[in-house]
Amino acid sequence: MQDSQQIAPPDATVGMEDRPLGPALRRGWRRRCPNCGSGPMLKGYLSVRDHCPVCQEDLSQHRADDGPAYMTILIVGHLSAPLLGSVWMAWQPEPLVLFTIFAIGTVGLSLYLLPRLKGAMVAFQWARRMHGFGRGI
Ligand SMILES: [Zn+2]
Repeated sequence: MQDSQQIAPPDATVGMEDRPLGPALRRGWRRRCPNCGSGPMLKGYLSVRDHCPVCQEDLSQHRADDGPAYMTILIVGHLSAPLLGSVWMAWQPEPLVLFTIFAIGTVGLSLYLLPRLKGAMVAFQWARRMHGFGRGI
């Protein structure tokens, strides 16, 4: 028979104190290293650096895969679709004008959000020691 004091529910936050999620997400959103917040996380538009040039934090194993693209489509789609319907119902502009404005707006918003969401997703993985959905260390 086991002692009831020895049985404890698993705590998912054990070992996470040194990597707080909130600051890591803010640093990732700014495309900065989730560890120090000053080194650039990305080289170019979307490639994650192997190491932070400031604190040498290893970022090579973090892979966001399709997550940032999915999140970008989710956000842009949920913003633009109701807005498109509202603009059409309110002003009924020429279809070519409506298309041009929304094409530029959705492409611009997607290009703005994609690297920031990738930074936030990599920072989330870093804070939770996920290492790109692989084996954590
Ligand atoms: Zn760093």
